Parts: sequence; C-alpha cells; structure tokens
Amino acid sequence: MPKSKAKKSGGLHPIETASRDEISALQLKRLKWSVKHAYDNVEPYRAKCKKKGVHPSDLKRLSDLSKFPFMAKYDLRDHYPFGLFAVPRKKILRLHASSGTTGKPIVVGYTMNDLDNWANLTARSIYAAGGRPGDMVHVAYGYGMFTGGLGAHYGAERLGCTVVPMSGGQTEKQVSQIMDFKPDIIMVTPSYSLVVAEAFEKMGIGPGEISLRTGIFGAEPWGEGMRGEIERKLGIDAVDIYGLTEVMGPGVASECIETKDGPVIWEDHFYPEIIDPETEEVLPDGEEGELVFTSLTKEAFPVIRYRTRDLTRLLPPTSRSFRRFAKITGRTDDMLIIRGVNVFPSQIEEQILREPKFSGNYQIVVTRDGHLDNVEVRCELQPEVSGKLTSSEVQTAGKELQHHIKTIIGVTTKISVLAAGALPRIEVGKAQRVIDLRPKQS
Ligand code: ADP
Repeated sequence: MPKSKAKKSGGLHPIETASRDEISALQLKRLKWSVKHAYDNVEPYRAKCKKKGVHPSDLKRLSDLSKFPFMAKYDLRDHYPFGLFAVPRKKILRLHASSGTTGKPIVVGYTMNDLDNWANLTARSIYAAGGRPGDMVHVAYGYGMFTGGLGAHYGAERLGCTVVPMSGGQTEKQVSQIMDFKPDIIMVTPSYSLVVAEAFEKMGIGPGEISLRTGIFGAEPWGEGMRGEIERKLGIDAVDIYGLTEVMGPGVASECIETKDGPVIWEDHFYPEIIDPETEEVLPDGEEGELVFTSLTKEAFPVIRYRTRDLTRLLPPTSRSFRRFAKITGRTDDMLIIRGVNVFPSQIEEQILREPKFSGNYQIVVTRDGHLDNVEVRCELQPEVSGKLTSSEVQTAGKELQHHIKTIIGVTTKISVLAAGALPRIEVGKAQRVIDLRPKQS
C-alpha cells in the first residue's frame, strides 16, 4: 500500500513554529527553484522576463523578487487554456477553473505533487481551525470546476476526517443531513451559511441543538460583524480560509481558532508581497495594498508575482511563525466609485451589522440619474424582529444606518429596510452583493 505523506495524527509541521531565519532560508531556496522552473518551462513568462531584462540568476535574496515582472489574470486569459502550464499536459492530473466572478474563466492544472501539497495545506488549515482526525466535515462548497468543494474535500480526507461531500444547494437536505449525521465542522461560503442558518431557524432548531462546532468560511469577503452573526446563529466558532484558483484554491492561508486574528499565510509554499496597485511598488508590512503571491513549490502552474487584486495588509506572526493578513477589504475590481468616493461592499456590510435588528443578507443597488450616482442599500430585518417592530422603529433603524454610512464612508444612500427573507438567496456559488445598473462606459 502506498505510504501517505499525511501527518499521522495531526500536530503542527515543524516549519509552522520555525524561526523566521529558517523560514526565509527555505523560501529563498524554493523561490530560486520556482522562478527558474517558470522561466525554463513557460515560454510567455520567459518572454516577459527578457523584456524586463531579468534572469532567474538575478535572484540572490528574497527582496530581489521585486525586480521580476508581475502576472495577472489577463496573462491566464491570453494563454487560455493551457499556455502557462510548466509541465506536459500528460503530467496534469486535474484541471480546475476560476468561478468566473469577473469574466471569462481561467484554467489551472495540478501535478500529482501539486495535489498532494494542496491536500496537505488544506489539512493544515482544518487543523488550525481545530479540526482533528476522526471529526466529521460537511462540505457545502460547490463541487466541480470551482476549487472550493474538491479542495476542502481532499484536505479533510488527508487530515483523517469523515467527509460529507454535500456541495451547495438543496438547503433543506443540508439541514436534515446535518441533523442526522451530526458533523463537527462545516466548510461553506459565509453567505450560504446564513441561508443554512435561516433554514434551521425556520424548522425551529436552535443553535444548541446543532452538532457543528466550527465553520471554515471563505471564497468571498466577510467582516467581523458577519463572523458574529454566523457564530451566534449556528452556535459555532467561525474561522476564515482564503485561496484563489490561480494560486492553488482554498488553503493558501487560513485562520487559527485560538486567535481568530486573520488568515495565516502558509509561507513555506506561498511568498506574499503587498504592492501599491497604482505604482506597483512593494509596500512595507502593515500597509494596505494589493496582495501578490509567488508559488514556491507548484509544478504544473507556477505563479510568479501573481496580482490577486485582493486588498489587505500583512500582519506579524502570532500563533504560528508565518505572517497573517487582515480580513480582505475587497477586490480592486469590486470597488464602487460613488460620486468620487471609493466604497467597498464590505464597508457597507460592517455598518449594517452594527445594528442587531439587521441580518447579514443585504444588497447594494447602484443607478445613475443624469450624471449622479444613486445608491440604495437594501437590508433585511432579523426574523425575530421582522413584523414585530412599529414603522417608526423600522424608520429609525434605517435612518441610523444612513447616518453611519454617510459619516463613516462618506456617501449618501437610500436605505430600504425589508422584511426577513425578502432578498433573493444564493444557494450555489458566491453572494452577489452589488447590482450595478449604471450604463457601462464605452
Ligand atoms: P473568481 O475570481 O472567479 O471568484 P475564485 O473562486 O478562484 O475565482 O476566487 C478567488 C477569490 O475569492 C479571491 O481572489 C478573493 O477575492 C475571494 N476570496 C477567497 N477567499 C476569501 C476570503 N477568505 N476572504 C475574502 N475573499 C476571499
């Protein structure tokens, strides 16, 4: 029987608690390999390096990486489907594609070693969330080309957990299966977890009766207010897992349950940088900018300085020796410019969830009247207060939200307070928070 590389009974990999010097030494060794691997085997990457006048031999220390060109989503689209693979197609064991939130999908591939590393890193992520061999993990991320379902699945198996490969959708079945099987952990998007929580509520099942202990949530931005809401409704600890198809899938970074202070980047496999998205300069740790990743061990699809478009800042290590990042504010392409003010949906979410009467389901509708942008924030009342408040109480809550958004974010909005359940629910895929009805600029 082939021997698994999985850690026998959990426990931390020694690198998770190594000194920063040891981590940097390993990163430099792997970085040299990864850049050379991409240069030697990916023709379009080699062409980019030549154009910039850099060669893998220029990489003497980690900071030399800043001399190398960036990769971005358009590189993947330009060489769709397999043009950036660094190994022959026959060495690729699996293909995945991004969920296509922002346009044409992109395709990535994995060798056997890549799949092995991915499973190990997702297992490490589940362990950081408090998961242990023998736990039961209910996976409600979508299965298929999206990396969420299968990524979570193989990670949970690798840790030695019992996996329930439920996928997204069929909310009532999700609920009855959770009640019958009694899983310990759920892996799902934060927005869909609220839909599942609502179904529990409707069936009269309280958080105390739900077996789940922990939820591992990712694939879309979610703030601290949302964390509180999910924890309260499901009676669990909620931790954050981050990943993207281009870099691997879920498990690039993940939060530790003991600190819940931002995803820990698995820096032995991914080298992070934060850049100013305009000037492309590397920013010091602690400053907000665009997250850029370089893969250190990937064979099939190495990414060197991949621009994620996700905005955050790097934070110092706490419960592991690796750096963390702050909750993602949003993607550069999610940013709405409303009458000259930059607004992220996550900022509006934060203000909505300051009011306990409102739930985490919301929608932002942007329209244009002549030259003026109008924003309507549609939020929902919590089921326990919906239909029970007087109209003046509802009005006051709406006015307060409008005031908070104006004073803190700086935009005037129209607030529509709706009854519980009034907004559409997304059962499969990612939440669509923004409906932008402004005419497209030509
Ligand atoms: P798509 O780009 O089509 O959505 P992916 O499914 O690969 O494709 O999504 C990756 C993106 O999802 C990330 O770049 C990020 O914007 C978002 N994301 C993933 N995990 C998180 C998380 N924990 N917090 C915030 N955003 C996340």
